[in-house]
This record gives sequence, C-alpha cells and structure tokens, in this order.
Amino acid sequence: MSTDLDRIISLSRTLGAPGRDLVILAEGNTSVRTGADRMLVKASGAHLATAGPDDFVEVGLAELIALLDNPDTDQQSIADVFNRVGVATGRRPSVEAMLHAICLQEGGASVVGHTHPVPVNALLCSEHAETLASVIVYPEQIVILGRRAMLIPYVDPGLLLARLVRDRLRQHIAAEGAPPKVIYLANHGMFALGATTAEVLRITEMAVKVSRIMQAGLAIGALSPLTDNDSDRIDEREDEQYRRAVLDRAEHLPARDAS
Ligand SMILES: [Zn+2]
Repeated sequence: MSTDLDRIISLSRTLGAPGRDLVILAEGNTSVRTGADRMLVKASGAHLATAGPDDFVEVGLAELIALLDNPDTDQQSIADVFNRVGVATGRRPSVEAMLHAICLQEGGASVVGHTHPVPVNALLCSEHAETLASVIVYPEQIVILGRRAMLIPYVDPGLLLARLVRDRLRQHIAAEGAPPKVIYLANHGMFALGATTAEVLRITEMAVKVSRIMQAGLAIGALSPLTDNDSDRIDEREDEQYRRAVLDRAEHLPARDAS
C-alpha cells in the first residue's frame, strides 16, 4: 500500500524527469491532500526530479487560507507562518503553497501539480494565452482538460496571486458548475487539478500536447476550432464520459522507492 508521501514523490519525479521538459532546476511544485485540513507540499528550493521524503512538508490548509481571508496579512505575516513550519519540519513550504491550498480546498482536487512546460509557456508568454485557455481544437482536449480552462493574468507569486486565483476560481465554479481541470497563469505556467497522481500527469501531458498543436496550427495559418455546439456535444457524449471513467480507474502512478 503506497502512502501519500510515496505518491507525491512518484508524481514529482515523473513531472521533473528531464526528458519531459516540464520544469528545470527547482521550478514547479506538487501537493497531495493528506486529511480534511492537511496537505503535503513541496519544500521551497527542492527539485522535482530528485524529490525524496525530506523534500515535502505537511501544513494545515486552514492556516494558509486564513492568510488570504485576513485583510491585515502582509509579507511579514506570511513569512512568520512559513518560518514556523520551517522550524517545526526543517523545511519551508514552497512560496506557491497558498495556491496549492486553494486548489485542494476550493478547486475540488486531491492532488495538484504545478509546472512550467515549454510548449505551454510559449503560448502563455504570447498574445495567444487566451487561445490556449478558451479555444477547443480537438475532442481529447475536452475529455482530459474539460470544456473550459482558467487563465489568470500575470501577478507575482504570493498573496495577491493566491487571492486572485481564489476569486476567479469561485467565479468559474459559479458559471460552469464545476472547478476547472487546469489553471493557466499568464507568463508563468500551469496548475493541474486532479483526483489522483495519474490524473495530474494526464492533464499536464494533454495541456502540453494541445499547446504543441496550437503552435503548429498558428505557425501555418489560423486555427480551426471546434464549434461550441460540437464541444458541448462531445463534453456530454456518453462514450466520452465512459472514456473518462475508464481513465479515472487508473488511480495513481506506480509508487517508486522513496528511500
Ligand atoms: Zn511556478
């Protein structure tokens, strides 16, 4: 029986594998829910590619969310909370831990993977960022990434970005009836929101593929998107929902030796 720690290590090493080109150096971070109010999140400065048991810290979700709710929160109060975790565990959580807490607490996810893939960022660092988030170019995009993704304009990582993502997430859920599978951050990267480690990898891989297809299409001319009618029909087709259900049975990536 693999543990949450085994699973998040496995996902981290998979996302960080050099051949995938999703992150370099200490870019990116991952988290997994470990209880109603707890998550394991990557420690600041740790590398996904070589992540081990000491590269994750367990933190309370409510404690991080409370920072967003308190209008008096400033950089010092965030540093105080992160330092306290650092003293208790030996490692400070990633600066993006608040975003992970939001994805787990309000985004319906159990596992979250944040990466900076080159093909995705090529679009997010261009005038085509909105295209990536809102245009559907082929059916599998809907099956894995859902009908609509979220795009957040560039804001420095930290309190303001976390608050903005939470506001937009609530708007998205109110409009669509469900949270998105992927949140794109302009000029930055992507967050995959999954029920399992396997789903987070699937979402990340599909976002990379969609980005490659869009780039190739844009390079030879204009994209020819699916119509709204086609997209809605595909989203609701019984056989596509069956494909999703089959994929969801592949619960987690095989856990690797965490020693
Ligand atoms: Zn990032």
